[in-house]
Amino acid sequence: MSDVLVIGAGPGGLLSSHALLKKGFNVSIYEEHSNVGLPKHCSGLVSSYVVNSLGPLARDQVLSKFTEYRVRVIEKGLIHDQLILSFREPVYLIDRVGFEASLREAVESYGGKLRLRTRVTEARVDEGLLRTKEGWAGGDLIIVSEGALRTIVRKSQVCDVSEALIGPQALVRLGRVSDTVEVITFPPLGVNGFGWVIPVDDKHVVVGLVTNSKAAGRLLKYIVHKVAGELSPSDVAVREFFGGLVPVDKPCRELLGSKHIVVGDAASIVKPLTKGGLYPLVKEVEALETSLRGEHIDIDLFNARFGETLRLLNTQHATLKAIRRLGGYHNLVKLAVKLGLREIKLMDYDRLVSLPAVS
Ligand SMILES: Cc1cc2nc3c(=O)[nH]c(=O)nc-3n(C[C@H](O)[C@H](O)[C@H](O)COP(=O)(O)OP(=O)(O)OC[C@H]3O[C@@H](n4cnc5c(N)ncnc54)[C@H](O)[C@@H]3O)c2cc1C
Repeated sequence: MSDVLVIGAGPGGLLSSHALLKKGFNVSIYEEHSNVGLPKHCSGLVSSYVVNSLGPLARDQVLSKFTEYRVRVIEKGLIHDQLILSFREPVYLIDRVGFEASLREAVESYGGKLRLRTRVTEARVDEGLLRTKEGWAGGDLIIVSEGALRTIVRKSQVCDVSEALIGPQALVRLGRVSDTVEVITFPPLGVNGFGWVIPVDDKHVVVGLVTNSKAAGRLLKYIVHKVAGELSPSDVAVREFFGGLVPVDKPCRELLGSKHIVVGDAASIVKPLTKGGLYPLVKEVEALETSLRGEHIDIDLFNARFGETLRLLNTQHATLKAIRRLGGYHNLVKLAVKLGLREIKLMDYDRLVSLPAVS
């Protein structure tokens, strides 16, 4: 049976390994860290589609669910409510570290070989070769799932890499926790930026943001300060900082080569508007799973299966371009309020609104 070598044990690497192991492939996964899921970087908000399609792997990790977000802006140092985003389908908060730990267990139970503390330093993806401290290894297929940094992708020129946003987050204990997710905009976050506050339990929230501002760390502390508002300092404590990068390029043009496939953030398979990566990644792995014919991937079938998701990502990229032209999310919110909108009803966390039909 074919040998598959996987670069990176994030959700992309682990989910595709799981799919291929179930079909009888031999899979070796190379992960540079000493554990999976850590250091953590993701907020863990996903749609019901993701929870349902991952089954118990995600369902057992659900911490809470939300049907609306409160949109707030910071102006002249004050934070104001502006409008409500309501979702027809709930948005779920999952424990991302727990999710990856259970995915690891599932992969290992199917015989996947996980090589921790093993960085891939070089790859010749067209030849099915990769290099680690142990030397060169060869396989019939390489899965490039190295995440947003995209070092191998850049070096081997399998996708264009130009843009990533910085996403710092903080787990904060607050004396008072709201029961909805808050989206926060303010001009210093730039045309690409917005912030968020996610209630994790009755004492803690995750405060985070994405931006291309070099002052990302300072902006995060500023938002924490504003969210804490009038609470006394003894009611506010930052428990930990974490975060990562979010690719904002258009999806890789060719996900599949003769001996490789690029998966997840490595291929910029990330929703442009909300920056969530798990939904398009799940769709990508589903397309991979259903386009396997024996030991081969039927490229036409894969492209047909993944086509609708690509169309969604490209449509959202076009929408993002329009938002940038408007001056970013902050101006978009101000415009919506000016137009008298107090609530915007969205389909779900992934598609937001339905895609126009293809003519
Ligand atoms: C601040 C922030 C908030 C987010 N919030 C959400 C959210 O709420 N919902 C959502 O759906 N998505 C969210 N995302 C995006 C989501 O985290 C990613 O889309 C998802 O993790 C992508 O999975 P991946 O496997 O492609 O990459 P990653 O999760 O980054 O995994 C890549 C793995 O590869 C390893 N690796 C990298 N290079 C090498 C190498 N050379 N050799 C060996 N191992 C290597 C890394 O250590 C890592 O374990 C967020 C991201 C950020 C930064």
